[in-house]
Amino acid sequence: MNQRLSYEGQVAIVTGAGGGLGRTYALLFGSRGAKVVVNDLGGDTKGQGQSSRAADKVVEEIQQAGGIAVANYDSVEDGDKIVQTALDNFGRVDILVNNAGILRDRSFARISNTDWDLVQRVHLRGSFMMTRAAFPVMKKQLFGRIIMTASTSGIFGNFGQANYSAAKLGLLGLSNTVAIEGQKYNIRCNTIAPVSGTRMTEGILPPDLFDEFKPEYVAPLVLWLCHQDCEDTGGLYLTAGGWYGKFRWECTNGTMCRKSRDETVTPEAVRDHWDLITDFTHSYNPESGQEATAHLVGALQDLDSKE
Ligand code: NAD
Repeated sequence: MNQRLSYEGQVAIVTGAGGGLGRTYALLFGSRGAKVVVNDLGGDTKGQGQSSRAADKVVEEIQQAGGIAVANYDSVEDGDKIVQTALDNFGRVDILVNNAGILRDRSFARISNTDWDLVQRVHLRGSFMMTRAAFPVMKKQLFGRIIMTASTSGIFGNFGQANYSAAKLGLLGLSNTVAIEGQKYNIRCNTIAPVSGTRMTEGILPPDLFDEFKPEYVAPLVLWLCHQDCEDTGGLYLTAGGWYGKFRWECTNGTMCRKSRDETVTPEAVRDHWDLITDFTHSYNPESGQEATAHLVGALQDLDSKE
């Protein structure tokens, strides 16, 4: 178990790797033998502006440490160009970390079409464009590791982040389906929800947490999930400050609100069963759509057996 994890011979694309979390992933991949495509558009947190400096700097850092890396300055919306950079320079794509992101925070009533669209375009559409471009390459190789970056804002909601929350939980749905479709090609796809002190959380995280939740602590989880020895797929992981945990779904046992197949259900019946519907004393943790559906079919069978 104490063998050092290596990425020798593999090619990793990290989007938004010019700073913050992405930079730490790129540096760690580079130091472990992967050839890295350091993608970054080089704009500000709101997605304005453009510069090659951010990506170039990280490429230099990797090279100075003895690693191999190339810069790419395209937006993740042009996923095929970024994947092409990997193919042109290194001939393959083994790992894709969808990390690029922006914020356009506004309270819900004030959110503009632009605030909504830009956030969806970078996070959700960007991760889709990247993944769609990389997937056929990985499929051919019979190997791939993909990361989506969600957020607790997506899981729980957060004031002023309707656009961001929607995109971030959308990424979990995308990840879960890519995990299912990638399974037989040895393509694994997982989602992380990090908390970290970066320019994105400056002034948002309390200063002590900002200092303590270093982005370097998130990178080891990303690297493990992207290693060939890690077979887990379709997971959602929460991490900050060197702590790592896994989320799962929990559903109450629920209750059937009718006594026979020919009975209709009224809103009053739902009201009157509300305690049972929402009671987690007897809950279960479905791990797939099939498992969730099986529970519903079971409830129908119970109904039949009572008739
Ligand atoms: P960051 O602003 O430091 O990094 C984001 C990077 O993405 C920037 O370097 C930016 O230039 C780049 N980028 C933005 N739009 C791009 C585009 N269209 N194409 C290519 N690159 C683009 O912020 P961060 O905290 O390191 O965020 C990284 C990811 O983690 C984001 O997806 C963010 O939503 C997510 N996240 C961060 C936290 C946190 O606590 N920092 C929490 C939850 C989720």
